[in-house]
Amino acid sequence: MGKVLIIGAGGVGTVVAHKVAQNPDVFTEIMIASRTKSKCDAVVKAIGNPAIRTAQVDADHVDELVALFNDFRPDIVINVALPYQDLTIMEACLKSGVNYLDTANYEPKDVAHFEYSWQWAYKQRFEEAGLTAILGCGFDPGVSGIFTAYAAKHHFDEIQYLDIVDCNAGNHHKAFATNFNPEINIREITQNGRYYENGQWVTTKPMEIHKDLTYPNIGPRDSYLLYHEELESLVKNFPTIKRARFWMTFGQEYLTHLRVIQNIGMARIDEVEYNGMKIVPLQFLKAVLPNPQDLGENYEGETSIGCRIRGLKDGKERTYYVYNNCSHQAAYQETGMQGVSYTTGVPAMIGAMMYLKGIWQKPGVWNVEEFDPDPFMEQLNKQGLPWHEVFDGDLEL
Ligand code: NDP
Repeated sequence: MGKVLIIGAGGVGTVVAHKVAQNPDVFTEIMIASRTKSKCDAVVKAIGNPAIRTAQVDADHVDELVALFNDFRPDIVINVALPYQDLTIMEACLKSGVNYLDTANYEPKDVAHFEYSWQWAYKQRFEEAGLTAILGCGFDPGVSGIFTAYAAKHHFDEIQYLDIVDCNAGNHHKAFATNFNPEINIREITQNGRYYENGQWVTTKPMEIHKDLTYPNIGPRDSYLLYHEELESLVKNFPTIKRARFWMTFGQEYLTHLRVIQNIGMARIDEVEYNGMKIVPLQFLKAVLPNPQDLGENYEGETSIGCRIRGLKDGKERTYYVYNNCSHQAAYQETGMQGVSYTTGVPAMIGAMMYLKGIWQKPGVWNVEEFDPDPFMEQLNKQGLPWHEVFDGDLEL
């Protein structure tokens, strides 16, 4: 059906590569390109399919990307490099006539700020070029938006309260490690919390609000209110929502390490002078922390991510909880990566599949909840992320 170019060969890129290779009827030619080509070659070796091409590219440079796109001529690019590269890759897509998909919204390097405005600003240019850009197609953002769209389509006349709940009950047996890129992860969770209520954004201190939530097959876990990027698009696309929040679990040991990292200045994202050169402390920290790609082997337990929704159907109040649980070990057995990379990479592959099958094709820049959720939900069950529903249960929220 089409040619796909994966940019980024980290934890998520490795999973995407495995999953596209498992669907050769859809992805007829595959290339993996990243800053370090040897990592792409290692992924191809692990998959065992020498037909997959690899290339070196610095995705901070539009001209390098354009040269690569014009050489390989992909139908769609799956951007699983870092959020810093979103805009350069979108620019290159416009220059070369390539469709686009990512899993995280653009962030400038020098300020940890999460909003879609930079990428939404490309809407008209993608429309005029007849190209589709699919934003935020990992798990959260990604499946969280598709779950919400599915709930709105099938189970509610009006969604009023939305809580996205993200639990990682896994144990990787390290004192401290992050499950995806440490720099991006620590920038995200050290920010103020923020949620949407009655048409306004309410800001909290980092980790100020938390409560025990009970996750299926896992039990109660302390869950912290964070700001997460999909809240911005979901309240825009589902204007009946009165309140939207995002919760994530953290263990005490993790939070203690995080507090120390912040207190000693290692979470700083500004440059400091060190031995005559400039370094960014958080980037240095990334270099000494465990690599998220290496956590899989001893990772036990599972993740559980879902949407807890309250609203109206046929004039009556109803609740709905839709979720997926993913085993770290099962993810590792299949792809060599842990569950957090897996739950991100599988939806990215499905989004590209939706595009190539012609189901999610419309010129412009779109968040995932603006497409038909049904064929995507069907593929989640087939591609390793089965989902479950609870109707009219206690949402605890
Ligand atoms: P990693 O750090 O493991 O991998 C990032 C990859 O991008 C590396 O191969 C890196 O190359 C490459 N890269 C970085 N900068 C450039 C550049 N300038 N040019 C080319 N390649 C570059 O990250 P993850 O795989 O954990 O995460 C990938 C993305 O997925 C991130 O954007 C993250 O925010 C997102 N994510 C989304 C989630 C969701 O549910 N929506 C959940 C988890 C992650 P090198 O190896 O040389 O450094």
